[in-house]
Amino acid sequence: MLRHLNEIEVWDIIVIGGGASGLGTALDAASRGFKTLLLEQNDFAKGTSSRSTKLVHGGVRYLQQGDISLVLEALRERGLMLQNAPHLVRNLSFIIPNYEWWGGPFYTIGLKMYDMMAGKLGLGPSKNLSFEETIKSIPTLVKDGLRGGVVYQDGQFDDARMAISLALTCADYGGTVLNYMEVKGLMKDKDDLIEGVVVRDIENDKKYRLKAKAVINATGVWADRVMQMDNPDAKDMIRPSQGVHLVLDKSFLQSSHAIMIPQTSDGRVLFAVPWYNRVIVGTTDTLVNHADLEPRALDEEIEFILETAGKYLNKVPTRKDVKSIFAGLRPLAAPQGDEKPTKEISRHHKVLISLSGLITLIGGKWTTYRKMGEDAVDKAILLAGLPERKSITENLMIHSYSVNSSLDDPNSVYGSDLNSMEAIALESKKYKGLLSEDLQISKAQLIWAVREEMARTVEDFLARRTRALFLDARESIKICETVAQMMADELGYNSRWAKGQVKQYKELAKGYYLE
Ligand SMILES: Cc1cc2nc3c(=O)[nH]c(=O)nc-3n(C[C@H](O)[C@H](O)[C@H](O)COP(=O)(O)OP(=O)(O)OC[C@H]3O[C@@H](n4cnc5c(N)ncnc54)[C@H](O)[C@@H]3O)c2cc1C
Repeated sequence: MLRHLNEIEVWDIIVIGGGASGLGTALDAASRGFKTLLLEQNDFAKGTSSRSTKLVHGGVRYLQQGDISLVLEALRERGLMLQNAPHLVRNLSFIIPNYEWWGGPFYTIGLKMYDMMAGKLGLGPSKNLSFEETIKSIPTLVKDGLRGGVVYQDGQFDDARMAISLALTCADYGGTVLNYMEVKGLMKDKDDLIEGVVVRDIENDKKYRLKAKAVINATGVWADRVMQMDNPDAKDMIRPSQGVHLVLDKSFLQSSHAIMIPQTSDGRVLFAVPWYNRVIVGTTDTLVNHADLEPRALDEEIEFILETAGKYLNKVPTRKDVKSIFAGLRPLAAPQGDEKPTKEISRHHKVLISLSGLITLIGGKWTTYRKMGEDAVDKAILLAGLPERKSITENLMIHSYSVNSSLDDPNSVYGSDLNSMEAIALESKKYKGLLSEDLQISKAQLIWAVREEMARTVEDFLARRTRALFLDARESIKICETVAQMMADELGYNSRWAKGQVKQYKELAKGYYLE
């Protein structure tokens, strides 16, 4: 991938940012045959895109808010995501427990609309549940005051694995995708129009000046920073708001269904979702002043989630039950003047173009990554005078597409690559066996991640190629030394590198468990 930087004089499209938005854009561009380069300052999905609730959804709550066009678009994209990546996305049923006399009919009507709007890409009908059926589906729900429930269908995925698969698909189509490459500035021509980027290779401090016909800023909550590289006087558009999730043992849910609480005491939606043999509970909405790459949960957010979950679950979770805790940042519209920063940037994405031609893609959600990419590339074609070529991502199969994967198997994310990944164990005794019995992570997965998935650090492997850090932070620390040594051997680094990695990883992982 690095070699391509010297081989190509002028890229058609350079995308800054390797989260859902940037990867969706780069894949759309590469699959239309454009010379495409994606630059990510850290690892793919290091930002918000590995910290979501992991739902592929139309957004029932936007329906409640009357945002019909957003729900229609997301429902369509939900269906396409399942169609194009059946090894990465699964159908999941959600139960809204009903503790209010009016709740049943209210949600039944709303969800019937939701089903209808999904059309032929629907995942199955919603229906009313009696008290008995609700408890049979989720035995751990608080029974006191429960009247029944409503069940509806949405999708679920592994966000970071989807990101890695998008990067691989982009490469399959001839795109160049690089992690650990930070864009430090923008290059402009004599007419003050953008003609490329200045980038630093974080691993060796090498600088590159790369030319492009179009530059797309897809840096999520960091979008202001890049817009200010273009125009130092540009006002901040984004104020980050933090969303926290806690990961608990599956005994708190004891069900293959998820729970959806439409309105918590602070007016948010709360989910308890089964994921890889654990339960994810969240989320919160807390304004923060700074977009940190490693946002940290606040004590009050942790207490809020534990307390709210405790109102609905008969086994009340406490701090010591938390296996992992992670925070992500969503963009809110920054206040202008004295305005209060309460309004969320609409979940409708926007493609902005500056006077010097910087294209910025903001908003949206994971579920709509494909459409966001398509819209951004359409604008780039117009702006840069690239040849008109239609997007082909609507029916484009994602890397290692397979309909034969059993989604109960955590390794289904490898799709048609599964056999090749597992075959690594046959190469040598040292690649045989598991790194973690509890998380079912194998040594072969590690070698595969280094060779095939651009894993460069211990964190890349434990946080995003596998989800160890997000599933059980303490367990991930137990295996980090072996991971570091095996990675060092595979990458040709010495034991000093391995020691440094272990130190860095342990420091990072401290933020993912509670003392
Ligand atoms: C708590 C929470 C829960 C959510 N749950 C869901 C859900 O269940 N379903 C759903 O559909 N959506 C969900 N979303 C929304 C979804 O996660 C986001 O819309 C999406 O991940 C944003 O992707 P992005 O690529 O725009 O941003 P990011 O993923 O943040 O990517 C931006 C990238 O740009 C990189 N970058 C920044 N500056 C530079 C630079 N100078 N040079 C190079 N790279 C740079 C960053 O390192 C980062 O990796 C959720 C969001 C939050 C906060």
